[in-house]
Amino acid sequence: MRLLLRQLCVSAVLGAAMWIGSSADALAGPPSIGIDRGLVLTLGDRARRASFDKKQQAEGADAPSAFKKIRTIVIDPGHGGENQGALGVVDVHEKYLTIELAYALREELQRTYPDARVVLTRYWDTELSLNERAHMANRVDADVFLSLHYNSAPHPRAVGIETYYLSDEKVTPDPVEVQGKPLASARPTTSGIPRPDEAAVQGFFNESEVSAELHAERMRQHARSALLAKIVQRSMLKELKGSKNRGVKQANFGVLRGALMPAIVVEGGFLSHPEEGRSVAKSRRQRKLVRALVSAIVSFDDALAKQADDAGARAPSNEPVAHADRPGR
Ligand SMILES: [Zn+2]
Repeated sequence: MRLLLRQLCVSAVLGAAMWIGSSADALAGPPSIGIDRGLVLTLGDRARRASFDKKQQAEGADAPSAFKKIRTIVIDPGHGGENQGALGVVDVHEKYLTIELAYALREELQRTYPDARVVLTRYWDTELSLNERAHMANRVDADVFLSLHYNSAPHPRAVGIETYYLSDEKVTPDPVEVQGKPLASARPTTSGIPRPDEAAVQGFFNESEVSAELHAERMRQHARSALLAKIVQRSMLKELKGSKNRGVKQANFGVLRGALMPAIVVEGGFLSHPEEGRSVAKSRRQRKLVRALVSAIVSFDDALAKQADDAGARAPSNEPVAHADRPGR
């Protein structure tokens, strides 16, 4: 029994060590003893939350550092499994870089805002469809959805950072930028936000009333996605000084289409660029990117609170504000 226990411990340590190391093979899957990384993180969050509450109670301290409006953040590490993403000048596939970034971002968010719930769409090197990712965000009623990616282009001079939100028209990314797999796993095949009549035809909803409401809600979230994209892009440029600003763009990315909350795709740099591609794989740049994303989420939360205040001031009696205006909430 003791031997078994020791073996388990060794396996767990090995598993963790393999996880921390970022060589492609090491990250191929969960340790064989089947530790559920998601579960471990959830337990860790609960423990952190409990000790945080206790400290607050003991000290009678000021309000905890908490978001004003945001409760749940879903981080989507792009690609995974067979879908490896781009491969640039450094021999590490995009799927590993995105999950490392996602973990680092999650850690920082939970450290600074223990109250917030931060969920990853994948905790391992697993393959998920684009629909599944958005669906997961909908299911946990996320307030923000960030899909993390790195860029790649056939031309090595392509460089810089860009942020996407969903196009409501048939806009597709520049095909020149696409190498092998479509950019950000985009499948720009159908139109963006379904119109009420289209939604009904597609069989999403039977009642036109429901689809009209869905459409109105999507339009609201669409405007917020645009704002979130703007804030994130600005914040990244501030932290990653000297980076080329490729701007805020719209595209009909599959991963954004199904999301019912402010949702963006972050392209954190070009893996194919001789310099940027190397720096992207370094922890120094990753830390900056994490800082940029955290401060962007904070600014976005402030903006949501302000929107709610303004709406409240316009209609103090029964007008729904911010969180309250989401169906099913
Ligand atoms: Zn990607």
